[in-house]
Amino acid sequence: MNSAIIVAAGSGTRFGSSVPKQFLEINGKPLLIHTLERFDNCPAIDEIVLVLSAAEIEKFQNIIEKFNVKKLSKILSGGETRSASVFNGLNAIDSELAEIVAVHDGARPLVTVAEIAKTVEKARQTGAACLVAAVTDTIKEVTDGKIVGTIDRAKLRRALTPQCFRYEILKRAFAENEIGEAVTDECFLVEKLGYEIAAVEGSAKNIKVTTPADFVLAESLLKQSQIENV
Ligand code: C5P
Repeated sequence: MNSAIIVAAGSGTRFGSSVPKQFLEINGKPLLIHTLERFDNCPAIDEIVLVLSAAEIEKFQNIIEKFNVKKLSKILSGGETRSASVFNGLNAIDSELAEIVAVHDGARPLVTVAEIAKTVEKARQTGAACLVAAVTDTIKEVTDGKIVGTIDRAKLRRALTPQCFRYEILKRAFAENEIGEAVTDECFLVEKLGYEIAAVEGSAKNIKVTTPADFVLAESLLKQSQIENV
C-alpha cells in the first residue's frame, strides 16, 4: 500500500492572515482541498494521512464533509516543526501494509497527478525519489554581506514535494537522526543515511504557498490548470 502524508500544520506566520492559508478558497475550494484532490485522483496513492495543527482539526472536519476526498484515512495533529509533523504521520501508517510513503506539503496545490505517479514509481524502483525543479536565478554564496562564491546553477535543483521513500528507509531515517528546525525536508535525513535519492524533474509551477504573493500566483496557476485539465 502506498501512503501519502500531507503536512499542513505550520503556523503560517509568513503568510500573515487571520484565516490559515490552507482554508482560503480558490475557485470555491479551500487551498488544502485542491492539494488533497491531486493525491485522491492519483492511482499510485492508496491512502492519505493528513497532518493539521490541533486547533484546526475540528474546523477542517466540517469543511471536508462538503468534498469527496475518498482516500483520506486519518487526520492527525502536527508537531512543533515540519519534520515532527511528518513523524506523527509516519507513525500512523500500518507497518504491515506499507510500501511507498509520499511526503507532501499541504501548501503545494499545484503538483500534478503525473508528477506524483512518476515520483512514487521511481521510489518503488530505487528506494528514494524527490521531485525537483531547475534553478533559474544565479545563486551566490554570501558571507558578512559580501559575495564569496557562485554556484554553478546547472547542477542545482529546488527540492519540491512529493518526496517518496520505501517505508523502511523513511522509518530508519527518522530513527537514526535528530529532528528539529534545521531539517526542512525528508531527503536531508535519508541523505545522511548514505542512500542515493533519485531526482525526478518536475515543473517549477509546483510552488509552495508561503506568502500572500504566492497565493495570488497559485490562484492564477490553478485556474489555468483547470482550463488545461491537468
Ligand atoms: O515551514 P515550511 O514552509 O517548510 O512548511 C512546509 C509544509 O510543512 C507546510 O505545508 C506546513 O503547513 C507544514 N508544516 C507542518 N508542521 C510544522 C511546520 C510546517 O505540518 N510544524
